[in-house]
Amino acid sequence: MRAIRLIRCHAEEWGADPEHIAVCGFSAGGHLAGCCGTLFHDLDAKDNDEADHFSQRPDAMILSYPVITFRKTQYIATGKRLLKEDFDEKRDEWSLENRVLADTPPAYIWATATDQLVPYENSVLFAQAMWEKGNKCELHIFPDGPHGMATGYERRDLKLWMEQAKEFLKASASFPVEGGEKGRTVILTFDDAVKNHLSIVAPLLKEYGFGATFFPCCFTEEWRKENGRHLLTMEEIKQISDMGFEIGNHSFAHKNMQLLSAEEAEEEIEKLNSLFSSAHIPPPVSFAYPGGPYAENLRPILKKHGLKLARTTEKRVWNIAEDDFLRIPAFPLVEHLNGKLNFYEALGKCTKENAAVFVFHGIPEIVHPHCNVTEKTFRYMLDYLEENDYTVLSMKEYALKYNLF
Ligand SMILES: [Zn+2]
Repeated sequence: MRAIRLIRCHAEEWGADPEHIAVCGFSAGGHLAGCCGTLFHDLDAKDNDEADHFSQRPDAMILSYPVITFRKTQYIATGKRLLKEDFDEKRDEWSLENRVLADTPPAYIWATATDQLVPYENSVLFAQAMWEKGNKCELHIFPDGPHGMATGYERRDLKLWMEQAKEFLKASASFPVEGGEKGRTVILTFDDAVKNHLSIVAPLLKEYGFGATFFPCCFTEEWRKENGRHLLTMEEIKQISDMGFEIGNHSFAHKNMQLLSAEEAEEEIEKLNSLFSSAHIPPPVSFAYPGGPYAENLRPILKKHGLKLARTTEKRVWNIAEDDFLRIPAFPLVEHLNGKLNFYEALGKCTKENAAVFVFHGIPEIVHPHCNVTEKTFRYMLDYLEENDYTVLSMKEYALKYNLF
């Protein structure tokens, strides 16, 4: 409630809408969020600052498989932690279904019938109390799902709760909800010339109408002896180019460029460029630092060879007004290292002008399994980008669109 008062107090400065503040909580957090909506009369503001003058009543509540009641539930750990030795005496008082009043803010509630930890009856009891008082309340009990399904993961049915909650805020709590900014920009890049860039990735991107930059390299001769069959040939890279995708330079042998002399570094770049040229692949304008880290020593060499954009793996969105074009940040996505979470986090930060650049390797990646993303996850990500109206471009397309050259 202190947070709500503070947000209202600083609404202008923080760009918040002081009349449309919703609280959202999951599980025990659902009890906490529910407390905000049912205890705002009872707990006095006592911080002795300017924020005390603002209301601490939330304008709506979103409660996800909440702990609500301490009355009859099988799950009372939350109540015991909260009330400790007063549990028996105060359990009814802190059962939120007993605290609903006519001015309790509208609530959207969802749960799963098979929740093994917090019984769905919690949600039902609260919804009933809300309806009895004539308050706006929407309740969804999904038939199947364990405790903690959060934003739904792969479950298309469960994922819908966020859309439903959004519509509820609009319809039942008068929130001016118009959805996020449309056409936010994402740039897809694919490193290391993996065979399935041609067999899986490029055709799939075509299906979605998405742009992308491919950053092939050739690795060392020793590497090729062992893994050459997984590596795209120049003819195959040409085919990807002919499909309309950008081909960038990732250096010939994928060495740590920071450690090379100027001559060695230039040779690395020239060698790959001349292979491209013999295969009639257009001269690249984009470069990706092998392994990811920015290499200051390459600047004059990149410029000399017409490479105007250079991608690192510094995990930020590409701020086109501020970022150095030879030090473009990007988010590497790796399935077993929270890949999907990183994907959503990056999307949450990008805008129409400031793109999130993603780095993929093979789909799937067999030779470098630490960089793996499965085809299933990749398709899921493409679906997500399409459904949410992202503009998906190559680095070059983005640079042309915003006149960066
Ligand atoms: Zn690489």
